[in-house]
Amino acid sequence: MERKNVWTTYSEKELEELEQLNSQYKEFLDRGKTERECAAVTIEMAKAAGYKDLADIIQKDKKLKAGDKVYAVCMNKTLALFMIGKKNMENGMNILGAHIDSPRLDIKQNPLFEDSEIAYLDTHYYGGIKKYQWVTIPLAIHGVVAKKNGETVDVVIGEDEKDPVVFISDLLIHLAGGQLEKKGAKLIEGEDLNIIVGNRPLEGEEKNAVTANILKLLKDKYDIEEEDFISAELEVVPAGKARDAGLDSSMVLSYGHDDRVCAFTSLAAFLSFKKVDTTACLLLADKEEIGSVGATGMQSKFFENTVAEVLDRMGVYSELTLRRTLANSRMLSSDVSAAFDPTFAASFEKKNAAYFSKGIVLNKFTGSRGKSGSNDANAEYIAELRKIFDEHKVNYQTAELGKVDEGGGGTIAYILALYGMNVIDSGVAVLNMHAPYEAVSKADVYEALKGYRAFLK
Ligand code: MN
Ligand code: MN
Repeated sequence: MERKNVWTTYSEKELEELEQLNSQYKEFLDRGKTERECAAVTIEMAKAAGYKDLADIIQKDKKLKAGDKVYAVCMNKTLALFMIGKKNMENGMNILGAHIDSPRLDIKQNPLFEDSEIAYLDTHYYGGIKKYQWVTIPLAIHGVVAKKNGETVDVVIGEDEKDPVVFISDLLIHLAGGQLEKKGAKLIEGEDLNIIVGNRPLEGEEKNAVTANILKLLKDKYDIEEEDFISAELEVVPAGKARDAGLDSSMVLSYGHDDRVCAFTSLAAFLSFKKVDTTACLLLADKEEIGSVGATGMQSKFFENTVAEVLDRMGVYSELTLRRTLANSRMLSSDVSAAFDPTFAASFEKKNAAYFSKGIVLNKFTGSRGKSGSNDANAEYIAELRKIFDEHKVNYQTAELGKVDEGGGGTIAYILALYGMNVIDSGVAVLNMHAPYEAVSKADVYEALKGYRAFLK
């Protein structure tokens, strides 16, 4: 059952492909630091590969047939791509799915305040984070401000070399005796995550002169008012680009590997096909980190509605066809796995942990405390996948999330399983998941692409 480190198995040509893929991945990470940005980059790539907007096709009352490629997007945050195959859709689709939201700090709707002539933006964190990791690092603000006049202003501050960054303070060590006695979860609390945005007063202003100056800047640069925060989605993320990591450059250190590493490799695999026999579908979902809720989360009807529209455009829609299409589908629901961390070995069970550079990870189940809440993939389905991976020389490993009863986590797999389809969690091993900077092995990025390609084939 031992899996080998795959680096030494590659030919020169494979190593070249691996580096090229990881360069593209780093660019994808840098261009897509929010779900909206990821969706936009994906649409751009899909269009370049010949994908058409399904909404357009519906509006113009055009039909779809085998060989057609379409995408559908919901609220600029979640999307589905379809490559229609020769076989009847009723026989099921091959679905790749991942999520494109990542843990971060969201700016509140009434965020701006000033204390002791320091201006702050108040935040509410999104997803599971260790709050103490987010202080004293350079942060950037990404997002949109929707104005009453219907205009949406895109905001990115802190990524350009010439841009300022923002940050959160921590108590200096000299005075931290009391703080360091606290439990880790209380070291920095949710309401301590205040983004420092300024210290320079506006001339002639007496009260709250620093926030007045910030508001003037926002007005001048973006033409937005304080009230516009009410209809804004501004996300605070670590500033800066994805970087090669390790003296041997064998890894990538970046914000947002969870789950863009699976989203990107699934997308790259998907777009590498010109045509397929079995209809292929790529799902990139939002809101996974907060339970897949909301209109753009996997629990929404967006996906089911979109499949119904596709069937309708093909002239075969009926409630029963829709149900058969979904039930007969097979899916790799991809999300990151916890990579075994030797420094914290006690939290893992070594035989059933995911390791760096040992290939794409299959998780039969996730969940916690007695597999609660997990999608327990069917053994027969896993046997099929083993066969596919072996035939296509894809290196894979199996894992679960840490020791029994040590913790747990969820993905989107169980939601698709509700249709009665075969679905399994798969993905890429990540070190320090949900930290501002997470790490992956470049070899695993490459094996994930190979795995998804083999699956679609
Ligand atoms: Mn995830
Ligand atoms: Mn996550």
